[in-house]
Amino acid sequence: MFTFTKAKKLIAAVAVSTAAIFTMTGCGGGDNAASDNKNNDSNKLRVGSTIDFAPFEFQDESQKDYQGFDMDLIRAIGKEMGKEVEISNIGFDGLIPALEAKNIDVIISGMTITEERKQKVAFSEPYYQSGLTMVVRSDETSIKTFGDLEGKRIAVQIGTTSATEAKKIPNAEVREFNTPADCFMELKTNGVDAVINDRPVNDYFIKKEAITGLMVLPDRLTAEEYGIAIAKNNTEVQQLINEGLKKLKENGEYDKIFAKWFGEENK
Ligand code: GLN
Repeated sequence: MFTFTKAKKLIAAVAVSTAAIFTMTGCGGGDNAASDNKNNDSNKLRVGSTIDFAPFEFQDESQKDYQGFDMDLIRAIGKEMGKEVEISNIGFDGLIPALEAKNIDVIISGMTITEERKQKVAFSEPYYQSGLTMVVRSDETSIKTFGDLEGKRIAVQIGTTSATEAKKIPNAEVREFNTPADCFMELKTNGVDAVINDRPVNDYFIKKEAITGLMVLPDRLTAEEYGIAIAKNNTEVQQLINEGLKKLKENGEYDKIFAKWFGEENK
């Protein structure tokens, strides 16, 4: 099980990432790719993801491969493409640079399709409907909606849509962390008043973690769609990814993966 403390341990173990530096989980095995391999072996699909975003991508210490909705989806797409999927754990703000440097072929990391990112990368068809919500301490009384965040201290994950949105809030003090787990920790220890983060991740974290004293508020700030990112000129892979996604939606495999991680909720 992915837990708050395990997440912290993992973060400590992998030397918190800075831009474009590959963070390898230190446990050996797994499906981590060699970080400096630029030889694009066409039998491989080299995938970049930030493995700290349950239930989309996370490390379960009892299992060697990375777990989550995105992980199952990209492995199923790789199978459709006849390619071996190799997943590298990369800090979120290093994913697009890694794609641009051709160290990876695709990104799947709960990444929202945005106009800004479209300047740099191409996206697959959307594969998941998401959006932003906020988490506050359970005894919080002054924050009920996003409008209440004016002048408040907010934690967000670096390089995310949450960071962009938080910076638009008047007089808010926005603090950026490497992972959502870091943000929740900061909230719990009173370092900030709220965390803005993706709704399914907030819901999963609060429901599944043994973390007490935090709650998700129902107010939604944005509606967002996740896409798989591909290098701008790589139309061949973009097409194969879209075909794979379409096939999995048609043959029921996508629904199975969805039900495994989300049940019938959020559908
Ligand atoms: N969906 C958000 C974004 O794309 C957060 C993604 C993430 O942290 N993995 O910015």
